Amino acid sequence: MKGKGRKAKKGKRFSSYANRLLSHWAYHRALTKLGMLCEENRVQIAGVNPRGTSKACNKCGNKGIRRDERFVCPVCGNKDDADHNAACNVRDHFITQGVYGPLSENHLDIPFG
Ligand SMILES: [Zn+2]
Repeated sequence: MKGKGRKAKKGKRFSSYANRLLSHWAYHRALTKLGMLCEENRVQIAGVNPRGTSKACNKCGNKGIRRDERFVCPVCGNKDDADHNAACNVRDHFITQGVYGPLSENHLDIPFG
């Protein structure tokens, strides 16, 4: 039966299914707002595929071991906070995409003057 198991539990406003759908909507809305703010302030925004960024070592690029909050690379011995290591990998992916830096006037469709 369609809709079965999608009822909100007692004391909850929405079902887990509805909450999941709403989270996608909130993400899209936040991303749209961020894009508008970046355009207003002439800051470039680019998406980075996060695949593998939490597993790769930021120092040598080899696959490391992530346990809870800690990241350890068995090849080079790099020890770091797991989130910091992943953030550095995302930053490096962003920089190598060649879109790093503030927007120039040529990148905007809006005429200046
Ligand atoms: Zn390493």
